[in-house]
Amino acid sequence: MGLNAEWMQRDLEVLWHPCTQMKDHERLPVIPIRRGEGIWLEDFEGKRYLDAVSSWWVNVFGHANPRINQRIKDQVDQLEHVILAGFSHQPVIELSERLLRLAPAGFSRVFYADSGSAGIEVALKMSYHYWHNLGQPEKKRFITLTNSYHGETVAAMSVGDVALFTETYKSLLMDTIKVPTPDCYLRPEGVSWEEHSRTMFAAMEQALEQHHQEVAAVIVEPLVQGAGGMRMYHPVYLKLLREACDRYGVHLIHDEIAVGFGRTGTMFACEQAGITPDFLVLSKALTGGYLAMSAVLTTDKVYQAFYDDYATLRAFLHSHTYTGNPLACAAALATLDIFEQDNVIEANKALAAKMASATAHLADHPHVSEIRQTGMILAIEMVQDKASKTAYPWQERRGLKVFQHGLERGALLRPLGSVVYFLPPYIITPEQIDFLAEVASEGIDIATRDSVSVAVSKRFPEHRDPG
Ligand SMILES: *Cc1c(COP(=O)(O)O)cnc(C)c1O
Repeated sequence: MGLNAEWMQRDLEVLWHPCTQMKDHERLPVIPIRRGEGIWLEDFEGKRYLDAVSSWWVNVFGHANPRINQRIKDQVDQLEHVILAGFSHQPVIELSERLLRLAPAGFSRVFYADSGSAGIEVALKMSYHYWHNLGQPEKKRFITLTNSYHGETVAAMSVGDVALFTETYKSLLMDTIKVPTPDCYLRPEGVSWEEHSRTMFAAMEQALEQHHQEVAAVIVEPLVQGAGGMRMYHPVYLKLLREACDRYGVHLIHDEIAVGFGRTGTMFACEQAGITPDFLVLSKALTGGYLAMSAVLTTDKVYQAFYDDYATLRAFLHSHTYTGNPLACAAALATLDIFEQDNVIEANKALAAKMASATAHLADHPHVSEIRQTGMILAIEMVQDKASKTAYPWQERRGLKVFQHGLERGALLRPLGSVVYFLPPYIITPEQIDFLAEVASEGIDIATRDSVSVAVSKRFPEHRDPG
């Protein structure tokens, strides 16, 4: 038995993997990774994989980045963790100052949690609690878009809409108001993203008009619905939404867990709409992909609604044990240093253009219905029928074939259903983009070549894996 097989065997005896039907691993390998360096992951037999999905959308400056490593090493010798209630420390203060400087004007406070989902819970609870403190407890519902994803905890699932994940748990979920997504994939022929997103706003306006008295907040994934298949829309929708939320007295929550930190071409997606939401939730790339942490930025107006004598019971009494962990803060500070020192947002423009040109030929592929891109996210949608954009039945698991081909060729390309996408670390080179495009083209050819017998397909994390 090779080293990979040995580790896989030990793994399968004790682990239960995320977002996985474990029975799949009777046929599909688990790939044990021994080390990472830059954009590469290396298994126990020395085979390397180019990490085209940034290890579930978190890694921005490569694995084992020397600058981030050093900052964490320095921090761990100083202070690994301290309770954040009643105590504080240098990295968390500096990080908060920097996030507030970096984000659009209007935020004044940063609240920390330990995962994206937990950050969403914080934003939802804070919004609800704000209205409660203002004597409007009837404002307790949330408006959300169809095809959205906001995490796995119960409230986060409630505001999400990926059926495979929410249907099973339906009876546990809060009752939310779902508005049709402005996603531009299914826009009518000849209609621009901007026109389509504007048109789709009518449904949101209507929902707000009808329900605003009972609604605390609208929550959106700005510009890109990630887990929903990298579906994209125009910033005008966010601008209209900000105006409407103000008009109707409803909070706006931006879940920038996936799209924050340069993914959409600007540091934060909301910059492209020129707006400031009431809550900005950040995670994933916040620590460069090193440690679990999320941050919720909010305004002084929200903060003041909680600020009072203890006995009024207005305080936000929410905590996660590892809130503001110093090591995670150190990783985040090092990550922000790299953004600044290497002028990353500007440099990414050339890489984004390269991703477009390297994949442009696929537009003519008979089973590719669309290649879409927002900044450093490029998605290629495979379909059964190009003219009508008829999707492949999910049971056929076409994306899995692309994934398997990628592994053979040394690329970690993990599709979302039939959507193949590049969401690479920003250290990717033009040559590596060419390599990825080549592997993706071959994979798409293989995946779309034949009819597939559904008998061989079992359910795999395909409708959505969170990356
Ligand atoms: C990944 C993700 C989450 C959940 O974050 P976790 O850290 O996995 O809990 C929430 N919203 C969006 C948009 C995400 O992509």
